[in-house]
Amino acid sequence: MLSIIIPCFNEQETIYLFYDKVKLISKQIAMEIEFVFVNDGSTDATLEKLRELSLKDSAVHYLSFSRNFGKEAALYAGLKSARGDFVTVMDADLQDPPELLPEMLSKLLSGDMDCIGTRRGNRAGEPRVRSFFARQFYRVINRISDTEMIDGARDFRLMTRQMVDAVLSLAEYNRFSKGLFSWVGFKTEYITYENRERVAGTTSWSFWQLFNYSIDGIVNFSDVPLNIASFVGALSCFGALISLIFVVVRAVFWGDPTTGWPSLVSVILLLGGIQLLSLGIIGKYIGKIFLETKHRPIFLVKETDQNSRKDTNS
Ligand code: UDP
Ligand code: MG
Repeated sequence: MLSIIIPCFNEQETIYLFYDKVKLISKQIAMEIEFVFVNDGSTDATLEKLRELSLKDSAVHYLSFSRNFGKEAALYAGLKSARGDFVTVMDADLQDPPELLPEMLSKLLSGDMDCIGTRRGNRAGEPRVRSFFARQFYRVINRISDTEMIDGARDFRLMTRQMVDAVLSLAEYNRFSKGLFSWVGFKTEYITYENRERVAGTTSWSFWQLFNYSIDGIVNFSDVPLNIASFVGALSCFGALISLIFVVVRAVFWGDPTTGWPSLVSVILLLGGIQLLSLGIIGKYIGKIFLETKHRPIFLVKETDQNSRKDTNS
């Protein structure tokens, strides 16, 4: 069986489009198919659409969160409840072309790959600034993290049960899926396709959300920022020592009068800045540890197709 996991956040317009398209494609797949929609606290009619759909088609299952927990949580919930021997993750907006599924499946079945991933060949249709920062992010993270992150790789991927179980065994609270999928290892092959626009609705990511997301990625998969803080600290200590010796020697031999207040103030400000920055970096990591040690659940389910309110009322 093939499980398709679809995280949905305010996707009322796209759910049916998605479902119809995948149903059409699924004729080419000689395998039973299960849909696992995860409603991530949508505020529109997404949940009603999912209820409708699951009554019409017994292959459609859904989970509905008690609030918005974010796409990462939705992915985790979906992976957890998927029962298929093969599992794929897709966006509801058809930016992940379902046409690729048969090809991906045959690749996975024929070769000795554990995962077939997808990446977009270009970033057409995306704001310039966003593409620029995205590229910089991948450059930085690949340099400072041992976990390889592929530029342009989408969450759209087809995995074997073995790999899904491996990803599920990483039950951390701060989830950065791109990194987790790569961290577990296994063999992944990437298929490249042309970027496409959403069929309907709007993206739920603002620039700042993406920015924070990238910082999360760095903090979750690298401790290099901490090393940088230590390195800069060591460097400024060394500089201070040299200048101290210089000042003392100069005072002893030439009896230099006290001058240079402006430069002193600048140096104090510079060092203060470095200290605060380092504290900020450390704070980022401590914040993550704090959240992680609370062991809060990654998501909370309010309703599923098994216990929908309609059933219990009737
Ligand atoms: N999504 C989600 N929770 C969120 C934000 C997004 O489940 O808090 C889902 C959304 O419904 C979609 C997928 O994640 O199926 C990708 O979101 P979107 O298309 O907005 O992102 P983009 O494609 O622009 O990166
Ligand atoms: Mg999208």
